Amino acid sequence: MTAFIADFAGAIVVEAAKYGYSSSNNPKEFCLHTPEEAPDDYPATPYYFHNLTDRNASTHYFVSFLGFVFQMVPESEGAYANVREMGERYSWEDTTNLNLQTLNIEIEGYAHSIHNTMPRGSPQWVALIRLIADRCKALGFPVERTFGHKAVSPRRSDPGQLRLDWIVYDVNLILNPDVPIKEEDMPLNEEDKQWIRDAIQYWVGFKLDEEHGEIQQLVVNATENEFNQLLDKIDSLREHLGDGE
Ligand SMILES: [Zn+2]
Repeated sequence: MTAFIADFAGAIVVEAAKYGYSSSNNPKEFCLHTPEEAPDDYPATPYYFHNLTDRNASTHYFVSFLGFVFQMVPESEGAYANVREMGERYSWEDTTNLNLQTLNIEIEGYAHSIHNTMPRGSPQWVALIRLIADRCKALGFPVERTFGHKAVSPRRSDPGQLRLDWIVYDVNLILNPDVPIKEEDMPLNEEDKQWIRDAIQYWVGFKLDEEHGEIQQLVVNATENEFNQLLDKIDSLREHLGDGE
């Protein structure tokens, strides 16, 4: 039995047991979460919320590791997903319950590793981008407001190091295909930084830690544009050293 019609046409409906307030939801933004569920071929979270009896918890959407989208709560209803426990209110946020101002998305995986298990361009990433783009367009709020659960709660770490800036960027590529989007300098994550350190060390034999602290600082603090310049330098060094393919 289908409990309600999915708001997102691509979603599989598995209704949560616990949701809803005396007033309806007025979503103005997305709050992103990880459910601390292994990223694999079994989407456990929708069924966990469906069968829940002993506590109040739910979410609107779940994006599986394989790229399937589930909807558990209608967008017109508040999910039991987040509470503002710290920080200043956002400019779009009023004094009512944050659950009555947000759509919540659980992304299969763990807070500590979601940035590795859902790389940009993976099926799960693409499914998330398409979901957010579709709902931003339908509901008329800007993707730039997207925030992670940890931004409003000191007790939460989800969704870890997930790159919200890249999510915003990729959603805008869908919503504004004709508008050239200015690519801003974005800070590198730790994995990218380590990769560039390893690459430099490999190609030119620099001992970054001891002898080239200055270069290391450059790498550590590199923005995306600077990172690309470093890649170009490595390429030309490679050619200069006569390295074969
Ligand atoms: Zn959360």
